[in-house]
Amino acid sequence: MELEIKRPEHIVPSYSLIGDLLSYLRCRLQYRYHNGSALPPSRPVQLWFGEFLHGTLEMSYRFWAELRQEGQQPPDFPWPCTKREWRQDSPRWENHDIGKFAGAVEDALRQQGKQARSTAARDSAYRRVKVAVNELGPHLFPLIASTERKVIGTRAVPDSVKDLRCDNYEVHGVIDVLTHVTLSEASEDNFIRQYVQQVCSDLPETFEVIVDYKGARRPLTDEPYWEQGDWQIQTYAWLRGRQPEALPVVAGILIYINELILGDAEMQAIQRGLSNRSTDQDRWTDQDKQIIRMWREGMDTSQLSLDFRLRRAIRIIPVSEQSIKRALESFDDVVRQAEEDVVDEADGRNILEAWAPNCEDEATCAACDFRYFCPRPAGMPENHKIKAPTAP
Ligand code: SF4
Repeated sequence: MELEIKRPEHIVPSYSLIGDLLSYLRCRLQYRYHNGSALPPSRPVQLWFGEFLHGTLEMSYRFWAELRQEGQQPPDFPWPCTKREWRQDSPRWENHDIGKFAGAVEDALRQQGKQARSTAARDSAYRRVKVAVNELGPHLFPLIASTERKVIGTRAVPDSVKDLRCDNYEVHGVIDVLTHVTLSEASEDNFIRQYVQQVCSDLPETFEVIVDYKGARRPLTDEPYWEQGDWQIQTYAWLRGRQPEALPVVAGILIYINELILGDAEMQAIQRGLSNRSTDQDRWTDQDKQIIRMWREGMDTSQLSLDFRLRRAIRIIPVSEQSIKRALESFDDVVRQAEEDVVDEADGRNILEAWAPNCEDEATCAACDFRYFCPRPAGMPENHKIKAPTAP
């Protein structure tokens, strides 16, 4: 009797949009080590600032929304932000003190062993989240329909020359904020409505806009994060569009919180973008232009206008069938590459070769746990020595 050869077991791996796909694009080797196995689970690598920011914005919104639900008028913006120091006799806060929400988030992160990397980083996080709540809140909060919305879908993995373990994959994510905009109801001076109208034509009367907070600066157009941000919004739009109660998603908004208070890294990037013509914006007032031209490392940036900072922070990404299709095909290809790396490692290839590191961002490599044995961290000299790598 001829026995059938046992067919390889096929699975449907699950990929998180941020924790897996964008992490893989940032660096394949870092992604492999953070995930710890040849079968990548969805385990996002998140930095303290990102979690602090998301948590504080979420708590501020919930406080505002609960008052509205109870028929009360929320306190007018700006809200105070008392930065608590770590001692027993905590100050008394007003109910709407942003520092109260931020302190609760900081406590929760500390319980998980997560802290700001320095006092300066913590100070900067408090200043940025204060501006974020006070400048974005009055425009964004009234449009919010839901927060932390989970989305999930299944896609086919593109054909590969290798014998992959799967034909399909699951992609999932969490949309920070979903807004419902009804044009006849949204205030005309709401800048979210204005910005979307400037970029998107033929808007329906009622539509959705996906909002995602980024604890980062606005990327330059020649940096991979620029295009990846677009793919992220398009994929969220596709996933959201499959949910039964969804309205048309016309656009996404990425909010780069670091641009609300610009530090050295943000200013250097703007100057680099101007000289390389790789910034998508350069129509600023003469005064803002003058400050940017004259700026040198360590100089104050508080004289830059609020309009300038908001326009830098808010990036509107129009959504269409074609743009969704392009983004999904790009992410499908990323999954195919990751699955090929899984096969390579399973076939006995060295991890450093199967998941060859590809990060070009010096800041990411400088903060990477694996730089001491990485064959090619960005910015390291050619004679960088590799220490013996080990599987986690
Ligand atoms: S040092 Fe850079 S290139 Fe090397 S693994 Fe880390 S992020 Fe990747």
